[in-house]
This record gives sequence, structure tokens and C-alpha cells, in this order.
Amino acid sequence: MSALDAARTLFVELTGSAPEGVWSAPGRVNLIGEHTDYNEGFVLPFAIPQRTFAAAGLRDDDRIRIASTFADEPVEVALADLGTLFPTPSGAEPGVPEWSAYALGVAWAIGLAGAAAPSRGVDIAIASDVPVGAGLSSSAAIEGAVASALDDLWDLGLDRVTLAQVGRRAENEAVGAPTGIMDQMASMLGRPDAATFIDCRTLATESVPTGFTAEGLEVLIIDTQVKHSHSTGGYRERRDACERGAALLGFGSLRDADASDLARAAELMDDVTFRRVRHVITENQRVLDTVRVLAADGPRAIGELLVASHASMRDDFEISVAELDLAVETALAQGAVGARMTGGGFGGAAIALVEREAVAQIADAVTRAFADAGFAAPHVFTVHPADGPHRDA
Ligand code: ADP
Ligand code: MG
Repeated sequence: MSALDAARTLFVELTGSAPEGVWSAPGRVNLIGEHTDYNEGFVLPFAIPQRTFAAAGLRDDDRIRIASTFADEPVEVALADLGTLFPTPSGAEPGVPEWSAYALGVAWAIGLAGAAAPSRGVDIAIASDVPVGAGLSSSAAIEGAVASALDDLWDLGLDRVTLAQVGRRAENEAVGAPTGIMDQMASMLGRPDAATFIDCRTLATESVPTGFTAEGLEVLIIDTQVKHSHSTGGYRERRDACERGAALLGFGSLRDADASDLARAAELMDDVTFRRVRHVITENQRVLDTVRVLAADGPRAIGELLVASHASMRDDFEISVAELDLAVETALAQGAVGARMTGGGFGGAAIALVEREAVAQIADAVTRAFADAGFAAPHVFTVHPADGPHRDA
């Protein structure tokens, strides 16, 4: 069964009737620009064909109920209680099951973004084919699907950038995951065959043609199956190091720093903080270079930038794991144009830009290398830049 049908079927099980509509939003993969978003820097993600579907309909009362194929039980609260549940106090668990805080958090945040507080209750059933916790942002996909459904059902007329901000607020303040705006913007602004350049300071965006399809290139996702969690220590520690580094340099954020600040940074801070700062400074430059090189020389010319990005995350930011390094090394040894880990790190997926004819061979080589190393079998599949949210039915 497709995820669209699964969402519809779950809705019928939940309510006994058909949904008013089904809305969906894509996951995303980041081509380059990692841990730069919360430093007000640059990122270049694209939306992927895998999507999360929200089958939804208005209710006659003032309650919101959310179900997912992901969870055994639906979660139901009064709309008026959203404001007492959220924001979740800092450091506390959400007052609802964590998975439901993504959708309920969106309902809360979209209510604050709209002109008037919504009063009609709603039922929502979720199903997805975005792998969870793989660095492909199943979280932005569920937020985007629910935000799109509520925007239509509650007739709010919010634009896509506002809906992206709603999703981020849900994730930060309802779930309590201190993530940046990239995932939601990438999902919301997806376009076929293009990546979305985002200036995370100004939220200015630009659709950047990738030329992957025209040039016969595919993006191989190598999901290591190593699960990460954004709510836990490593991510927070990296953010703190970036803030500390910016403060020591006398900047509000690392966005204001560039390569000319590196010598000063080396003197001002301890080695670990310096290397965190160096990653962000050089990664921002690599994003700008990738946009320029794509336009000037085409997608085959960005391979070196992808490889340099991986090295920086492995050695300076220290967010790679052995599985990700092996995926990247094997893909490159088999002739990939470029490869790097993608997403927040500590697990998740690597990407490899590969010739279409080489997909099967590189995928097989990676799978064999994982088996030889005693790692769990990776989930390997291809993606291409795809469309943002829309109403499906
Ligand atoms: P990622 O965004 O990289 O997949 P996150 O940890 O940010 O990983 O978000 C994953 C979490 O989002 C899941 O653990 C779950 O709580 C929630 N989530 C994602 N997809 C769904 C879904 N289809 N149904 C319910 N919850 C989901
Ligand atoms: Mg996420």
C-alpha cells in the first residue's frame, strides 16, 4: 500500500469516514552546508521524492486528534489545551508522546501564526515513506504535511516560508529539539530538479538548478541505519561550541566570520572550539562555491567540494561515525563524483553523486563493504530533487 493510501485507511479506521483531503510534504537531503543553519549561514538542500501524508478533516467539536501508522494509539487534546502544553519547559519531555508533539506542536504554532485562534477541531492520520531518523528529515515532512493540512482546513492562507517557521517552532518549542530552519525550508520550497539555496540569516532563498538529471547523475542515499537523536548531547555540544567561538571572536554568530578570522580564532580558543569554528567557516564557503560551480561548470565539478565537506565534518566537527566514513570511502573508491555524510551526524545517511550507469555497482560495493566490516546492512536507494508540499486528494 502506498503511504497516501495508508494515511487514508488510517483516517477511516480512526473516524469511520473518509478524510476531507490528503496533504503531503517531502523529506529532504542536504547537498552541502552542514551545521551552518543555526550559525545563520548557508545551506543547499533539496526535497526528495519520499513524502509524509496527512489525511485530515474538521470535527464538530474543539478537539484535535492525531494518529500515525508509526504509533499504537492516537493522541487527543482540546485545542485550548495546546497553549498549556506548549512551549514545553526547557529540558523537559513534552507533555504528550514525543511523536505526537511534532503534529500537535504545529497545530499550536500555526494557531499563533494565523490571524485568529482556530476553534474547529480536527482529526489527522499520518503515514510516511520518509525513513525516520536517517537524516532525511522525516520531522520536517510530518510538520510540513500537518501544516499544509491545517493551513487549508482552517483557511489561514499562510505562505510557505511562514509554514516553514511554524514547523521549526513546533520542533524547537514543542518537541524540544534545538534544530535550525533548514529542514522545513527545504521541504516547503522543493522544486523538481533544483536545490534550494538558503541564507539562514535573512531567510532569502534561491532555487538552484542542479543539472543532475540532465547530466545523467543520480544521488545515492546510503542510510547506515545508525540512529541519531537530535535531542541528545552531541548536537547541543556542537551548538554551544559555535556560540562560544562566535562570542570569543566578538561576533553575534559565526556567519560574520570568514577565512580571514581563522588565525585569530586559533589564538583565542581551545583546539576543540577552534576546529568547530573552522568547520562552520569553511563549510559556508563550500556552499557558496557549490552554487557558483554548479552554474559555471556543471554538477560533475562539485565532487571535490562534497569530499572536502565530509573531511571537515569527520575531522573538525567530529560528527561522523565509522559507518558513514566507510560509505563515503567506498563510493569514492568505486568512482563516485563526490560523497559526504549528510544531516546532523552521529549516524544517519551519506550521499554519493554517481553516474546513472554506476548506481548498482556502487550500491553493491557499499553493501559488501558494510558486511565485511561487520556493520548492519545499509539501506541504499537513489533520490532526485523533487516537489514541495501539495494537496494530493
Ligand atoms: P529525522 O528528521 O532525521 O528523520 P528526527 O529525530 O528529527 O529525525 O525526527 C524523527 C521523529 O519525528 C520520530 O522519532 C517521530 O517522533 C517523528 N516522526 C517522523 N515521522 C513520523 C510519522 N510518520 N509519524 C509519527 N511521528 C513521526
Ligand atoms: Mg529531523
